[in-house]
Amino acid sequence: MSLAFDYDALPGRVIFGAGRVAEVPAEVERLGARRVVVVAGREEDALAERVEQGLGERLAGRVDRIRQHVPEEVAEAGRERVAELDGDALVSLGGGSTTGLAKAVALTTGLPILAIPTTYAGSEMTPIWGLTAGARKTTGRDLRVLPRTVVYDPELTLTLPPALSAASGMNALAHCAEALWVPAANPVTSAVAEEGIRALAAGLPRVVVAPEDLDARTDALHGAYLGATALAAVGTGLHHKLAHVLGGTFDLPHADVHTVLLPYTVAFHAERHPTAVARIAAALESEDAATGLWELGRRLQAPADLAALGLTEEQADEAAGIVAESGAADREEVRELLRGALRGQLVHDESEATTWIQSAETTT
Ligand code: NAD
Repeated sequence: MSLAFDYDALPGRVIFGAGRVAEVPAEVERLGARRVVVVAGREEDALAERVEQGLGERLAGRVDRIRQHVPEEVAEAGRERVAELDGDALVSLGGGSTTGLAKAVALTTGLPILAIPTTYAGSEMTPIWGLTAGARKTTGRDLRVLPRTVVYDPELTLTLPPALSAASGMNALAHCAEALWVPAANPVTSAVAEEGIRALAAGLPRVVVAPEDLDARTDALHGAYLGATALAAVGTGLHHKLAHVLGGTFDLPHADVHTVLLPYTVAFHAERHPTAVARIAAALESEDAATGLWELGRRLQAPADLAALGLTEEQADEAAGIVAESGAADREEVRELLRGALRGQLVHDESEATTWIQSAETTT
């Protein structure tokens, strides 16, 4: 077998483990920072205050106005506040929206970021920034926004509610799955992505049943980290394109869209990328990757179809048109994929679908 690939590995230091948030001051010291601005929303006050106390004299102040998808005016206000405080480094603590704001500041100031994620979103491992002006979100790739240090402490995720944990975790699983079939996939990132699926599939069902289970939280966060690493290196494909169109154009909840869509996008890729999809099945310990993901969604008590999220058949067809126009896939094929996801029907033959869904229900 001949083997050839390109791999642009990204720099960065990762600290992973329960209780390791206590090491943030030492990590800040390592960055050589003297005036640290903490970026954290008021909802994360209890955790942020702990970090702020640890920083002692190095704490310059806080940016606490966080909004999803980083509106331009929120980014601008954040930059002004950091300039007022004369900050020389950013410590972000929170989910993807908080990391996103720190990135928006770093994009124009070049300040280093130490990121402490508290969800499974994965932004902390990527050089991708996103800003929203009006209804339009722009994204870009810039190494200045890639956090220099990431502190993963599963104890910080214990308070993430089960539904949010499930949705955020399935988003992370989508990063892993898609990393296996995109053109830039390579043996290193594929190994990482497959292991990410294994960790997420092991952790998430236990997290939903027992949110305070630290071992389950550790598995889930480990999987999220691996998925984000793969995403950062190889990017995304059809699944994310569909999720963005459905979320952006029809205002469907982003994280739930990932959960519902994933079995369908995996089924779509089964014949096109059989090796990638076989790896997903192996990691899920399921004979069929799409079935395994569908069953996982039920165990996480996540919504099962796009209709339940509010999508209509006309909107599904419109979405297929938008995705086809972008060149991501053929319109008819995407239409078929979306119509299946709309009805929560994975296989085309009605009788087969019914049997399959019943058998999945009896195992959950
Ligand atoms: P989020 O950051 O908006 O957080 C969702 C909610 O969870 C908030 O109310 C927050 O206060 C709360 N929360 C966070 N941590 C908590 C905890 N430990 N306990 C209790 N509540 C907690 O949502 P998200 O899913 O983390 O991030 C989504 C955003 O991240 C989107 O804008 C997405 O586009 C972006 N994202 C960016 C990248 C990238 O590479 N740039 C990658 C993935 C996601």
